[in-house]
Amino acid sequence: MAGNRTFTMIKPDAVKNGHIGAILEKINSGGFRIVAMKYTKLSSEKAGEFYAVHKARPFYGELVEFMSSGPIVAAILEKDNAVEDFRTLIGATNPAEAAPGTIRALFATSIGENAVHGSDSDENASIEGSFHFAGTEIF
Ligand code: GDP
Repeated sequence: MAGNRTFTMIKPDAVKNGHIGAILEKINSGGFRIVAMKYTKLSSEKAGEFYAVHKARPFYGELVEFMSSGPIVAAILEKDNAVEDFRTLIGATNPAEAAPGTIRALFATSIGENAVHGSDSDENASIEGSFHFAGTEIF
């Protein structure tokens, strides 16, 4: 059974560039319901923990520095087939390869500063949602 929730962050580049509203509009018109949301900032320790799976990758330090460089919007989204459909809505990791009209094609600046995060599996969606939200913050 496909899960019906995914986790997203509007990353510091998109926040800084004034794209929160436009990205939330893409999320809404894509048929996702926001079940949790907060405007917050990750410490470098928290960003390191969130991306621990990438610790061995050469860009890990850069990624942690970027993700803790400014505020983000974290949210849990609900829709049938949420993980896969949200990955389609955001486009490829590298905006140069992202399909036209996708969030990353429209708003990302580079492969590192790529506007949004989207969970890559139902299991990670659940782990990542719990990382940011208490049960009482999810509606
Ligand atoms: P995603 O699932 O599409 O977000 O991509 P990955 O799981 O492969 O990578 C996680 C995040 O690490 C990406 O969203 C980027 O922010 C960052 N990242 C991936 N590849 C690179 C890279 O080559 N250079 C840098 N600086 N960051 C990268």
